[in-house]
Order: sequence, then structure tokens, then C-alpha cells
Amino acid sequence: MAVEIQQVADGVYRCADGLVNWYLIADDGEVTLVDAGWPRSWPQIEAAVGRVGRALPDLRAVLLTHGHPDHLGAAERVRTEAAVPVYAHRDEVARARGEASGASPFALVPGLLPHLWRPSAFAFVVHATMHGFMTPRWVGEITAFDGMSPLDVPGTPEPVRTAGHTAGHVVYHLPDRGVVLAGDALATVDVLTRERGPRLMPDALNADPVNARNSLALLAELSGDVLLPGHGDPWRGPIAETVERARRVDLASNS
Ligand SMILES: [Zn+2]
Ligand SMILES: [Zn+2]
Repeated sequence: MAVEIQQVADGVYRCADGLVNWYLIADDGEVTLVDAGWPRSWPQIEAAVGRVGRALPDLRAVLLTHGHPDHLGAAERVRTEAAVPVYAHRDEVARARGEASGASPFALVPGLLPHLWRPSAFAFVVHATMHGFMTPRWVGEITAFDGMSPLDVPGTPEPVRTAGHTAGHVVYHLPDRGVVLAGDALATVDVLTRERGPRLMPDALNADPVNARNSLALLAELSGDVLLPGHGDPWRGPIAETVERARRVDLASNS
């Protein structure tokens, strides 16, 4: 599927294939990649770096929000072909290496089965499978971080631990650009129903749904007015308000 590239904030580019987003943060001549698409997205990543006016040697780091195959994607290929480190939270390392219990994409299948009667959910699963979701390429070597200190990579993103979707999920905050790269802590589309607007990921895909809800409080404290999710369009407006919208959707769907 073709990848659309669009500048969505100062030096921040969204690469979207219709179901998942990954991002490039440009800082002077250098670039950070946040999430790495699908396992088969390497050619699109290589092309995207060129499209934003940089070359592969300018790529300095891959940051993972979490280790699901639609986010760790081609990270291992980027690590080995472009010789850049792959960063993840300490508690996500085992998942991204394929060593955690429940890291296998097949672990998600039982939760998804009841949704497959919906054509939109079925289409998501077919798309994911075609892009290598069921055959992830785990990351061989990971630079682990612990805590919230800004990372010394282009854009100096600040990781914020938002556990729940997975144990070591983080969002990346770019305070000086007013941006939060939210991964799957908050989406702006339901990947199973295609309903739009800020919302949690479906519980079928959350490892710990209670923690996923608790982590919204951490997200709401972040400054900025552009939320860039792993799934769905960018959402503009104060982050706290965006989180509040997601909470209302969640309450309405559970009432
Ligand atoms: Zn995920
Ligand atoms: Zn995802």
C-alpha cells in the first residue's frame, strides 16, 4: 500500500499507509524514526527519509513506542542496514526481542475473533497479515532506557511511560514543538470499527485495559496541541482536551 508523507508539525512528518502511522523527526540535518511500520515497510522507510530531504546516513535512531509488529515493523532491518540503534523502554525490551510471554502476534488472535464479523475488522486483520504482522522480525539488539529523561537523539524526545496497551509502552513528548507521539496509548480511529476521534485502542488489543485507562492521566499532563497517534489522523487541540474526549468515548461505550 502506498505510504503518504505529510508534515504535521515543525520538522515532524507523518508516514501513513492507511492503517498505521510512523513518524520522522528532523533536527537540522539529522532524523529520528518513531516506530517502523510493518515488518515489510523497509523500502517505504528508506524512501520516506529521502522524501523529507535527508539520506539514510542522516538517520540516527529508531524509537519504539512498543513492540507490537505494526510498530516495531522493520526496525531490525533499519538497525542492520542503516546501522542505527533501536530504543525502547526497559520493560518493552523482551517483547521487542520476541522473548516475552505473549509477544507472539498469535496471542492477540483469541481477543480479535469475536470482532471479525465486521468487514472493517476483517479488513484490518487481512491488511496486517499481508504486511507481515504474523511473522514479525524481532529486534536483535535494543538500547533500553528507564525513566523520562530526554533521549540524546535528533529532536530530543522525552519518553513518558504509559503502560497498559503493553507493559513498557511509552509516548514521546516533544515539548518545544508542542507534539505528543502517542503510539497506541491513544488512537484517533478504532482499527476494528473505523469510528473516528480520540479513543483508547480496543480492549481486545490492550494487554492491561485498566492500566491503559490509568495512563491517560499521565498523557493529559503533557503540554502541546498536536497528538500524533499510531492509528488515525493527527488530532489538534490541547492534549488534555484530547484525552478528555477519549475518556468520554470510553464512558459512553461502557454505559
Ligand atoms: Zn499496539
Ligand atoms: Zn498499533
